[in-house]
Amino acid sequence: MSYAERAFDDVLSTVEFHVGERAHITVDNSVCASCTSQVCVSACPADLFVPMADGGILFNYEHCFECGTCYLLCDKPGAITWTYPDGGHGVVFTKG
Ligand code: SF4
Ligand code: SF4
Repeated sequence: MSYAERAFDDVLSTVEFHVGERAHITVDNSVCASCTSQVCVSACPADLFVPMADGGILFNYEHCFECGTCYLLCDKPGAITWTYPDGGHGVVFTKG
C-alpha cells in the first residue's frame, strides 16, 4: 500500500483543535531546570515545548496532537503530567 505525498501544511489544515479550559498536559519547570536532554523540544511534532533562557520550558497545550510522545520520552519523574482532554475537547483529525 502506498500513500500520496502531501505537504505537512496541507495535512495540518485538516486538523481542528477544540481547546478545553483545563490544561490536559502540564510541565513542572522546577523539574525541567535540571534536565540536560530536553528531548521534548525536538520530539514534539507540534513544537509545543520551547526552551527558556533560565533552563525551564515554556509549554502550551492548546495545539497538542495527543500523540503521547513527550510522556513516553521524558525520563524525569514528575516533569510532565499527562491526561487526555475533557470530553468534547482536544484534537480533531478531519478527513481532509
Ligand atoms: S519535559 Fe522532560 S524532557 Fe522536557 S525538559 Fe522537562 S524533564 Fe526534560
Ligand atoms: S502529546 Fe504529542 S503533540 Fe502533545 S505535547 Fe506531547 S509530544 Fe507534543
